[in-house]
Amino acid sequence: MSHMLIIGGGLAGGTAAEALREEGFDGDITIVAAEPHPPYQRPPLSKGYLAGGEGMDAVILHPTDWYAERAIRLVSGVAATSIDPAAHTVQLADGSGLHYDALLLATGATPRMIPLPGHELPGVMTLRRLDDSQRLAAELRDGGRRLVVIGAGWIGMEVAATARGFGNEVAILERGDVPLAAALGAEMGEVFRTLHREHGVDLRTSVAVERITGSDRADGVVVDGETLPADLVLIGVGAAPDTALAEAAGLDILNGVLTDAALRTSAPDVYAAGDVANPFHPVLQRHLRSEHWANALNAGKVAARAMLGMPASFDDIPYFYTDQYDLGMELSGYAPLMADAELVVRGDLAAREFIAFWVDAADSSGRGRVVAGMNVNVWDVNETVQALIRSGERVDAERLRDGDVPLDSLLP
Ligand code: FAD
Repeated sequence: MSHMLIIGGGLAGGTAAEALREEGFDGDITIVAAEPHPPYQRPPLSKGYLAGGEGMDAVILHPTDWYAERAIRLVSGVAATSIDPAAHTVQLADGSGLHYDALLLATGATPRMIPLPGHELPGVMTLRRLDDSQRLAAELRDGGRRLVVIGAGWIGMEVAATARGFGNEVAILERGDVPLAAALGAEMGEVFRTLHREHGVDLRTSVAVERITGSDRADGVVVDGETLPADLVLIGVGAAPDTALAEAAGLDILNGVLTDAALRTSAPDVYAAGDVANPFHPVLQRHLRSEHWANALNAGKVAARAMLGMPASFDDIPYFYTDQYDLGMELSGYAPLMADAELVVRGDLAAREFIAFWVDAADSSGRGRVVAGMNVNVWDVNETVQALIRSGERVDAERLRDGDVPLDSLLP
């Protein structure tokens, strides 16, 4: 009987195990997970779970019994330490070894650290794991604390919003000119700057953080010569794909574990999915790594089919969402094509109820292709936005901007 081995108990790994059973595989399945929890998803860790409105059931994919009932073996709290692709074996930290017929690497990503003086002090945190979210909640839940967030990225901005909800003082320190500019560009980044400022966040951009102060615990952050007092410092400067195992096993790595569109790595019978993978995107015709919930979910399913020798191609349009205060947003599109695209906004930017489109390669009549779309507090349009992107249809910018023109009518 064959053995499907999954390393990583996040969304990609957990979903892949579920999909293997749903596709009818009745052999052995093992998930080896370094964290001492059943597979779980991370978006609630900075939002509903951190805020206290959602419990563990919103975080874990399934309770432990669910895996037992499906004969999926969970080895939790144990890391895989090495892979021998030629022998098809994996060594674990508890000294045991496992043979596999197909192996999925779903090891996710690790928060980046910046070597600021003082970063190792207690009271300086990153947020990736369930345990981080629990520690953060314990610090923030009673309000009245001073949180300094270093980095105006998604996680920092979401935690800032949640922390304000508890009545904490929050400062965000960003080296770039505009928050979220790398993801959204300057104009859309400004929407988030205004949002946070209106909610009382001291958001500072174009600043240089010099060090974190404190003797036995962080008590401040020095920025451009000024010391901001802090009870807690959150470093949110992005994450790096967790490629250590793959690298040591000799797999091809470039900004993640390189795979083809079927999520096959350079080693036979070894697949990769989720944040750790850098798959070849068949539509874009280039490798595209995403660190998003939907990517982990859908790639986990595709990887399961590929592991079973079924036809499999991962060609999703990347999709991301966020919730901050009363702003909910969905973004679909190809990040590498957004930078050079023209922004077209339909709706009310000031009221934060709009859809922004990134439109590429206008022809001589000014018609270009939608490469990304972001709906902010406008709902039930994401499928149409995705259909527009997928169609590659050239659209007239004026009609795209005009809220009286039904979006559907722009589809071919
Ligand atoms: P992970 O969820 O990181 O899981 C990988 C697991 O593998 C980890 O548990 C790790 O411990 C384990 N592992 C690593 N190495 C080993 C080893 N050697 N042996 C065994 N186990 C190992 N995305 C969105 O689209 N929208 C959001 O709103 C959003 N919010 C987020 C909020 C937070 C706080 C965070 C951290 C992420 C958020 N994301 C969001 C991103 C999304 O959660 C990730 O893209 C997703 O978790 C990736 O899933 P994954 O399974 O690839 O990796």
